[in-house]
This record gives sequence, structure tokens and C-alpha cells, in this order.
Amino acid sequence: MSVNSQVFIGIGANLGDAKVTVSKAIAALAQLPETTLVAQSALFGSAPIDSTGDDYVNAVAEISTRLSATDVLQHLQAIELAHGRERPYRNAPRTLDLDLLLYGDEEINTNDLQVPHPRMTERAFVLLPLLQLAADIHIPGKGLAREYVAAVANQRIQELPTI
Ligand code: AMP
Repeated sequence: MSVNSQVFIGIGANLGDAKVTVSKAIAALAQLPETTLVAQSALFGSAPIDSTGDDYVNAVAEISTRLSATDVLQHLQAIELAHGRERPYRNAPRTLDLDLLLYGDEEINTNDLQVPHPRMTERAFVLLPLLQLAADIHIPGKGLAREYVAAVANQRIQELPTI
């Protein structure tokens, strides 16, 4: 019998109406089978990193799910496709990017999936919304998430006002 896992998803968009896209992605996560949406961070605006175009809109969602990590990843890719993601070249601006950040306390290293997400500790747009939801969250193999914040303080990011 599978048990529920605490899972955090990173969400980013910078094409079209990015706020709406992020909100729709969170709604889609809430509809996944065997899954409950536990919490969502505020929306943040952040400067593109390794990418071009407008500022990104970012958020982190926490779900509780019985899906395996692989199944979560497949659902994330389906949600990305449903939002018309096109990938003309590496790091091109994107309609919607969904990353599996944390899957309980598991460490996964396969060709298709690395968890914890390998770059999550280097990105303010992941760390700040994540810490809003879980100030004491521990990243397997890396320690407390909050200890990585000082090193990303130079990245431009601001919490967006709620409408
Ligand atoms: P990206 O362009 O950053 O969205 O990367 C997508 C690719 O990263 C896909 O081929 C995934 O299989 C792979 N990938 C590896 N680990 C993860 C993860 N933790 N979350 C999302 N995608 C991942």
C-alpha cells in the first residue's frame, strides 16, 4: 500500500499572461489523481536566469500525493504541454515550467529525474516561495533550505501583490 508523500513543485512562466498561467497550473495540480493540494506560496516576480524575455512569475505548491515520483513528473509534463509549452531551443522563454523539487525525503537519480531538483538551492525564485510554505524544510543531501538564501541575495525577486 502506498502512503502519502509531501511533495513540492516549482512553477514558473514568462510568456503570455504568466500570472494566469501559474494560477491555472496550481489548479491543475489540485486535480491530479490521488493528490491533495496542501498549500501554495504567493506569486513572485523574478529576473530571467539562463533565459531571455520578460520577468518570470514563480510560485511553489505543496501537494500530498500517493503518486510515485515518476508519475508526478509525467503529470507535470502533461500540464506543461496542456499550456502550450514550446521548446524551440534550450532555455527559450517558456509558457510554463514545472519542476519536481522535493519528494518527501527521497533522493532520486535516474536519467529522467533528479530529486531534490539539482539547481533548487541556487535559485531565489525557488527558495523564497518554498520557505514561505515550509520555513524549516530540509533538502535531502543538502541541509536546511534557508541556509542557501544568503548566497542568492543578489538575484532580483519580489513578491507580487495579491489582487
Ligand atoms: P526543464 O527544461 O528544466 O523543464 O527540464 C526538463 C527535463 O528535466 C525533463 O527531460 C525531465 O525528465 C528532466 N528532469 C530531471 N529532474 C527533474 C525534476 N526534478 N523536475 C522536472 N524535470 C526534471
